[in-house]
Amino acid sequence: MSCFKGKYHDELIKNAAYIGTPGKGILAADESTGTIGKRLESIKVENVESNRQALRELLLCTPGAVQYLSGAILFEETLYQKTASGKPFVDVLKEGGVLPGIKVDKGTVDLPGTNGETATQGLDGLAARCQQYYAAGARFAKWRAVLKIGANEPSQLAIDENAHGLARYAVICQENGLVPIVEPEILVDGSHSIERCADVTERVLAAVYKLLNDHHVLLEGTLLKPNMVTPGSESKKVAPEVIAEHTVRALQRTVPAAVPVVVFLSGGQSEEEATMNLNAMNKLGGNVKKPWSLSFSYGRALQQSTIKAWAGKKENVSKAQSVFLGRCKANSEATLGKYAGGAGLADGASDSLHEKDYKY
Ligand code: 13P
Repeated sequence: MSCFKGKYHDELIKNAAYIGTPGKGILAADESTGTIGKRLESIKVENVESNRQALRELLLCTPGAVQYLSGAILFEETLYQKTASGKPFVDVLKEGGVLPGIKVDKGTVDLPGTNGETATQGLDGLAARCQQYYAAGARFAKWRAVLKIGANEPSQLAIDENAHGLARYAVICQENGLVPIVEPEILVDGSHSIERCADVTERVLAAVYKLLNDHHVLLEGTLLKPNMVTPGSESKKVAPEVIAEHTVRALQRTVPAAVPVVVFLSGGQSEEEATMNLNAMNKLGGNVKKPWSLSFSYGRALQQSTIKAWAGKKENVSKAQSVFLGRCKANSEATLGKYAGGAGLADGASDSLHEKDYKY
């Protein structure tokens, strides 16, 4: 066996499998200070620590939400924050059976000589940071690699560099007790067809799993966080069933059965689209091979209408929490293929969340 066998071997496998518990998924609330600032700006709230804490408390302490969540990804600041009454967020999550996760990448930089393609930074000092985060209660990590579709993109350089970064990150996390979320996000920007997105997704995932294997990553102790296979943001939309069929086929061709869980990003889909598409995948029946559980790790598609309902006002917290609970429940149902559709439409769940050249 060539894969990594370190001190955390069994724990990594157990925690990765737990995240795939049927009916549960991940809340991605790990927006960097800059990105959360854009969310706060949209409701005219100042980007200061107390306001970021208030938003994260609203989400993480929503009564009843934890039953639908197996993990929550946090930004470093939030990992060490407490509720207004002084309880560490990590303890709130642990008591609710939600594994705390941590964003460990340091954002992207341009790859010189390419048409605006990027590499993700953050490998320097990563082992030491993972140890600190583990000690603080984190049990899984996220690293976002970003690729784009263009006439000549993604370039082989961008694919190789991002696959390499993900593989080094993954094995460093595993050596230090954190289950790595492997996230090669192919941006939705563009006017390409769903077939082109499928082709690029397959090329990227094949390269990523080649490198993860070369680096002896323990696949059973990882999660994959991919984009869904969809037409570009400037192309005509297609039905959830079409997205489900193309996405599952791309995964079948490239994602080893040893990977326990696939948690999709929402990537600018509206809240309702993201839920409907996940539901359609889990509804694909009978002889469709799906050796991994298919769940969610949504950022925008779990938070958008909640943030709008909150608008930074104390008196709106419980209304906003009920909006958030509704979205968590809808996505929980979608992991089981049992979502009937239509949750939260009055709160803006079908509003577009697309942002060009999205930075996290
Ligand atoms: P979105 O669901 O908003 O795409 O974000 C999820 C995420 O964690 C991106 O890294």
